[in-house]
Amino acid sequence: ATPAPDFSAMTPMMAQYVEIKTANPDCLLFYRMGDFYELFFQDAEEASRALGITLTKRGKHLGEDIPMCGVPVHAADDYLQKLISLGFRVAVCEQTEDPAEAKKRGSKSVVRREVVRLVTPGTLTEDRLLEAARNNFLLTLARARTGSLEDEANYGLAWVDISTGAFRVATSDARQLAGDLARIDPREIIVADVLLDDAELRRQLAETGAALSPVPRSLFDGATASDRLARYYGVATPEAFGSFSRLEMTAAAAAIAYVERTQYGERPPLDPPSHEATSRRMLIDPATRANLELMRTLSGERAGSLLSVIDCTVSGPGSRLLAARLAGPLTEVEEIRKRQDAVARLVGDTYLRERLRERLRAVPDMARALSRIAMQRGGPRDLLAIASGLGAARDIAGLFPDASGEGEELGSALARIAAAPAELAGELERALVDEPPLLARDGGFVAEGYLADLDEVRRLRDDSRKVIAQLQGALTDELAIRALKIKHNNVLGWFIEVPATHAEKLTADPARFIHRQTMAGAMRFTTTELADLESRIANAAGRALALESEVFRRLCEAVIEAGNAIKGAADGLSVLDVAAGLAHLAEAENQCRPVVDDSLAFDIRGGRHPVVEQALKREGAGSFVANDADLGPSEGEAGGRIWLITGPNMAGKSTFLRQNALIAILAQMGAFVPAASAHIGVVDRLFSRVGAADDLARGRSTFMVEMVETAAILNQAGARALVILDEIGRGTSTFDGLSIAWAAIEHLHEMNRSRALFATHYHELTALSGRLPRLTNATVRVREWQGDVVFLHEIVAGAADRSYGIQVAKLAGLPPAVIERARAVLAQLEEQDRRAPGEQLIDDLPLFAAAAPRTSAPAAKAAPDPVLEALDAIDPDDLTPRAALEALYKLKQAR
Ligand code: ADP
Repeated sequence: ATPAPDFSAMTPMMAQYVEIKTANPDCLLFYRMGDFYELFFQDAEEASRALGITLTKRGKHLGEDIPMCGVPVHAADDYLQKLISLGFRVAVCEQTEDPAEAKKRGSKSVVRREVVRLVTPGTLTEDRLLEAARNNFLLTLARARTGSLEDEANYGLAWVDISTGAFRVATSDARQLAGDLARIDPREIIVADVLLDDAELRRQLAETGAALSPVPRSLFDGATASDRLARYYGVATPEAFGSFSRLEMTAAAAAIAYVERTQYGERPPLDPPSHEATSRRMLIDPATRANLELMRTLSGERAGSLLSVIDCTVSGPGSRLLAARLAGPLTEVEEIRKRQDAVARLVGDTYLRERLRERLRAVPDMARALSRIAMQRGGPRDLLAIASGLGAARDIAGLFPDASGEGEELGSALARIAAAPAELAGELERALVDEPPLLARDGGFVAEGYLADLDEVRRLRDDSRKVIAQLQGALTDELAIRALKIKHNNVLGWFIEVPATHAEKLTADPARFIHRQTMAGAMRFTTTELADLESRIANAAGRALALESEVFRRLCEAVIEAGNAIKGAADGLSVLDVAAGLAHLAEAENQCRPVVDDSLAFDIRGGRHPVVEQALKREGAGSFVANDADLGPSEGEAGGRIWLITGPNMAGKSTFLRQNALIAILAQMGAFVPAASAHIGVVDRLFSRVGAADDLARGRSTFMVEMVETAAILNQAGARALVILDEIGRGTSTFDGLSIAWAAIEHLHEMNRSRALFATHYHELTALSGRLPRLTNATVRVREWQGDVVFLHEIVAGAADRSYGIQVAKLAGLPPAVIERARAVLAQLEEQDRRAPGEQLIDDLPLFAAAAPRTSAPAAKAAPDPVLEALDAIDPDDLTPRAALEALYKLKQAR
């Protein structure tokens, strides 16, 4: 724990440290000392462990050694990144006065230090700490106080990326919160600490994987929210930006408050908050998102996700926009059409597209550079990024001679690009060298010919250096010391150095050669002439640096001034990048433009799974077999179709289910789709129950998770939903599972009436097609060949005749003896089944809707006698004596 501050017993520096640390108890404190950030006490112990750096000690505190470790300032970003990714928060404490000033106050006084910034996962701005292809959102969550009943609780969400300025608000509710959080995918979530008493909310927040930062409730103050926002943007009222609900306003103001609190007065150039109507997005719950591996795979990697295979963008900002669009597919036909038009335009003109992509490749991340510049964290390279970005914008605008003739999506992007501040671009290009240094304080970034005064002092400085070289030559000759050198260091400045053996030639003339330092083997001197030169050089260098700082400040100001136009151009460029990337993908992957409208159609011809297809191609494992799906209602039908798909494991059932969900998502994000043709009536909500990962950490079995997800679907799916159900009922006994699947299909058909794909291994379910008019049986074709099974991956009408489980087991390498034995057991079981068929019983049940009022439970099939069963399974001719004995023991046991 932090030591109790007993200031009397500490050195003044320690007293200062403890005071600052006490004010920032939940952060590691990076305490600046010269060229290092030092950490002390428990901070040092934690950081040295986390970073693998040496723990040392410095001085004593209350009689005990003070543990210490440090990181060099120039490498601090790397250490920060590690600490942040490990979940730490860091307070950066800088020296805020010149040490010389402190000395003037007295020998004992300490340099003034202040925390200048809190580094948290959601407030990063450095490129080294950020992922280029991912937004870094900080999200605030406000909940209505009256929302004591969970279902009524209303949430206001605000999310902001201070590295780009993006700022959005939305309303949510308890049912949709998890889906909204999954879509936004924030890095850090700020909530009032009292909300965390709600265990369900706490669980949902934990599941996002974001860092959770509880704050006092006072940060979420509805009464002052509007004022805070107005103050930040210098407007009379935030209504200027749109109309926000009180909760949205509260969340937005809390986001601003958190940014101010962590950035200590630096103000990132945030866009005004804009409203995101969640009702205009396809709802996708977190489990579906995760299982479909949209943004990352189940194991958490980007590679292998849908995003990774569709991302053909060539810039970081383009990649971020693509990810945002994939995360939130649209539901408005008109909006979708605009995006499709843009892709189609660039599919149609390969020449234009490739030239566009070529230029986009050179576009740096202007939004992030701008944010750093506005927050006084920018350097010459950030200015250069703006310069080359604006330059590229100019080039790109030139590729489209008639922007007004382009569709709305491209047209408005091009208009924003054309509005880029051209003069500023020229100014920056003239001002900066081609490869400027990282830090402005080092100088050397202003190009020659930009500022006459600067050229002048630089000449002076360089001339003086030449004069020094001449002086060295002259002295070498005069004193006949070949090893004489004129050198420079920070302590002595310029000096003459000669080997000790020759030193007396200089000490002999003390009036001219002033002794400065004696080294092992060498002596150092200066002369009035050298001192003169030195001050001329220093003056010139100092003057040059001052001039460069002034240029830097002025250019930064100009950039900040033009911030909105720069951001607009950056946004426009990322829109082009996304359209060109998707067009490139469409052509490379042979995709088609889907017809999206307000019907209930779902007619996919020759659909493919984009990720599996690419994987097959990469591994040279044959080509993907395209398949149709048609789930739209036929003439006169009120409701979508259900396709019931049976077929052996490994045949391609889940691939088929998923590919159709992915095609719907791609279509509604405005992309082309991997199919020969597609007609999709807007899907407002996507439900899935696929893949079953155990959730034991939460105390739920696979079966429980499956049932919870199935319950959500049956309770919520409507006519516009698309439902994907894979193997429900598997985690329980055959009859339980079959009954549940049976009832679920009936409910889907009669009550939800959604378009649905249902894969199952219960062949009994195929009987339902006789009674449910909108249920279609489909199966995956396989061919049996010499006792082996060959998967054709082709979906055809009809029911699977067999499950081929044993053939698949054989493929998987089960020992031949086990396979043989399984065959025998199967034959027996099938024989038994023929004698006492169960289908009749199921056929007699009335339909789901009619079944409800009926109270009597269906008769269960009589439980088989285990002893008889075991006896039946024994083939005496097949037994070794030893196996026979074992069988006998087993029979006795079973009795
Ligand atoms: P199931 O759900 O029926 O057990 P999967 O959908 O998991 O089967 O598919 C098993 C494997 O078969 C996949 O990993 C893939 O490699 C291959 N596969 C599936 N569908 C196709 C297809 N349409 N064309 C080619 N290969 C496919």
